[in-house]
Amino acid sequence: MAEVVRYERRGPVALVTMNRPEYRNAQNSAMTYALDEAFTRAVDDNEVKVIVLAGAGKHFSAGHDIGTPGRDVDVPFDRKAVLWWDHTDKEGGDLRFARESEVYLGMCRRWREIPKPTIASVQGACIAGALMLAWVCDLIVASDDAFFADPVVRMGIPGVEYFAHPWVLGPRAAKEVLFTGERFTAQQAKEWGMLNRIVPRADLESETLALAEKIAEMPRFGLALTKKAVNQAEDLMGMRAGMDSVFGLHHFAHAHNAEVSGGDSLGGQDARSMRDANRKS
Ligand code: ZN
Repeated sequence: MAEVVRYERRGPVALVTMNRPEYRNAQNSAMTYALDEAFTRAVDDNEVKVIVLAGAGKHFSAGHDIGTPGRDVDVPFDRKAVLWWDHTDKEGGDLRFARESEVYLGMCRRWREIPKPTIASVQGACIAGALMLAWVCDLIVASDDAFFADPVVRMGIPGVEYFAHPWVLGPRAAKEVLFTGERFTAQQAKEWGMLNRIVPRADLESETLALAEKIAEMPRFGLALTKKAVNQAEDLMGMRAGMDSVFGLHHFAHAHNAEVSGGDSLGGQDARSMRDANRKS
């Protein structure tokens, strides 16, 4: 079986690549923990100054795995992000809260706090759970063909688990993105302040690495403290507490769905119906 995440070192840069291109890099738990391992390796390597997160193939990522043969929501995993119990022998909200606290919100917060600068290198689709991966990175470089969406309101759920929308898009754009579920372009994302740079598709890797190498000229500890300074400022703007409160609404929505639609916390939607609806938009 091919590695779900590739790790390469290019001088002072660690290039971490999601590698399930046949499933548009849909993120299952196997990938989550492989990403965590790769990030840990990059943090521990004193030669690495900057980390780039990329996706193999035509798309950065289609989001959380809600329908590939490698979907592994019922599989136990090594818990790393929060100290909570295993989800696999629980049921209902107890199961969902345990799993999503660890693997979605917890992991994203853990990665946001990686003490080295991270850059997301985004092409093609960056949908729902994939936004979370891009948003936890410090900078985002996108190719001109990149497109973004968080369509999970269609499931009756107020956005993905790492609810950074109002902080990375601004409240009004966040509402438009969530209310319509429609795709938005790289150009639109840049106007809203979500992206640092847009580059031609053919230059995405070289431009991202060039930016990473530029940053790598700065001192390691200075970069770590600067990153912490901006993250702390963001949290003082309410991001951390806001996300905690929205995580409660998110789980209320999952529970409501399960209550009214025969135990289905996704409100009767699956990968196919979501894709069909998104194609229309
Ligand atoms: Zn959820």
